Amino acid sequence: MPAPSATALLDWYDVHARRLPWRIPPEDRKLGVLPDPYRIWLSEVMLQQTTVAAVKSYFLDFLARWPTLQALAAAPRDDVMAAWAGLGYYSRARNLKACAEAVTRDHGGRFPETVEGLATLPGIGPYTAAAIAAIAFDTPAAVVDGNVERVVARLFALEAPLPDVKPEIRRLTATLTPDKRPGDFAQAMMDLGATICTPKRPACALCPWSEPCLARRRGDADTLPRRRAKAERPTRYGTAFVAHRYDGALLVRRRPDKGLLGGMLEVPGSDWKEDAAPEATPPFQADWKSAGDVEHTFTHFHLVLSVKGAEVGDRPPPADCFWLEAAAVAGEALPSVMRKVVEAATGRPARQRRGTPKM
Ligand code: SF4
Repeated sequence: MPAPSATALLDWYDVHARRLPWRIPPEDRKLGVLPDPYRIWLSEVMLQQTTVAAVKSYFLDFLARWPTLQALAAAPRDDVMAAWAGLGYYSRARNLKACAEAVTRDHGGRFPETVEGLATLPGIGPYTAAAIAAIAFDTPAAVVDGNVERVVARLFALEAPLPDVKPEIRRLTATLTPDKRPGDFAQAMMDLGATICTPKRPACALCPWSEPCLARRRGDADTLPRRRAKAERPTRYGTAFVAHRYDGALLVRRRPDKGLLGGMLEVPGSDWKEDAAPEATPPFQADWKSAGDVEHTFTHFHLVLSVKGAEVGDRPPPADCFWLEAAAVAGEALPSVMRKVVEAATGRPARQRRGTPKM
């Protein structure tokens, strides 16, 4: 049985590489053209926990607005947060800004070229550091995302479950990664996982590693990788108060910078607790009416918010709140859970301008 070879995968990639807005196609990379590290970094941060389809329009919008790292570093933070709204996992947007500033300030505006150097920057973990080093600088780093985990677990028929098997997958990926064209190899692995070695019904007949793949030979590829049983996601409860003025302005406040949805806007409300919603005090006296429950699922818990709405006249906002004018609602960093809450109370869509909200 032949061993899986990088050459077979690269030959496949030369023909089947996905055309992506941040990618240099293989025919150009072979001529020595490498991508702008800014683009690779931006795309990789956006792609953490978000699909390629959802990222494309955000990537192009960011690039049109902030074409260079320096432009992003100099941008007002609120503008970056607002442009990110809808992509979810907002700590990524805060880190994006912090990273742009750090590279500009501490590295003369150039990204470090090593995995170790990249991993010192805000928001760049081991995976992203390896991906940037490989794709932007052609460093032979082992780049392991969810797609690659699946391909390698099947290729070697690894029985141990995720996440325990991760170190073994990383070791095997490193042995497969070639010294020549490591950036294309990393992207080829991602493409193979995304288009051929899919979670369900992998298209093994079209796979360049069909011959050496142990799971394909055994006939149980779509059962791999195995996963350790997940702990059940808890449910938290809370109350949200949607005060909307007759002219459509919305009463909001800003969440603390650290933690879930950090730095994003929200309508006032209670804390979120398991078992039952805690006591909730409305931001001011008004004719509060129940608008039902809104449910939303975050990575680590499910949330049920009891929504109360009131239409009010012009009045000063409470100390920690402010009125967000109706025209500004679509452009603001209002997370999806809050958009659902506002829609439940007002009956009006509060959608963000671009993309499909994830959180
Ligand atoms: S042969 Fe099938 S299971 Fe094996 S790597 Fe290719 S697509 Fe995945």
